[in-house]
Amino acid sequence: MPRFCPRCGAILKPQKINGEIYLVCPRCGYKVKATEKDLQSYRVKTRIKHTEKDRLIVVRDEDRVRGLPITRDVTCPRCGYHEAYYWMVQTRAADEPPTRFYKCRRCGYVWREYE
Ligand SMILES: [Zn+2]
Ligand SMILES: [Zn+2]
Repeated sequence: MPRFCPRCGAILKPQKINGEIYLVCPRCGYKVKATEKDLQSYRVKTRIKHTEKDRLIVVRDEDRVRGLPITRDVTCPRCGYHEAYYWMVQTRAADEPPTRFYKCRRCGYVWREYE
């Protein structure tokens, strides 16, 4: 549960001040030091921000893989199936070859090709 400002009722937002996490009211400026319990409840909520790398792996939903090409030259490291969707992602410098990602057609496992 997020905590509410005791002065004005707005939802407090976590903010780092001098290396410590405070819950700060965006409306009236009230602030209180966050407890460990606060941090846990907020951590779940603020987790929506994925890093670039996470986003590549989280190609979970079926709609997005439906249009992808399929290769039969691979073996799923998890279930041993030999058909997978694949796509290319430019993960590093533009002059380096893109990394190929696979998604198992049977178990949905996603892995990347290491050269
Ligand atoms: Zn307030
Ligand atoms: Zn598999």
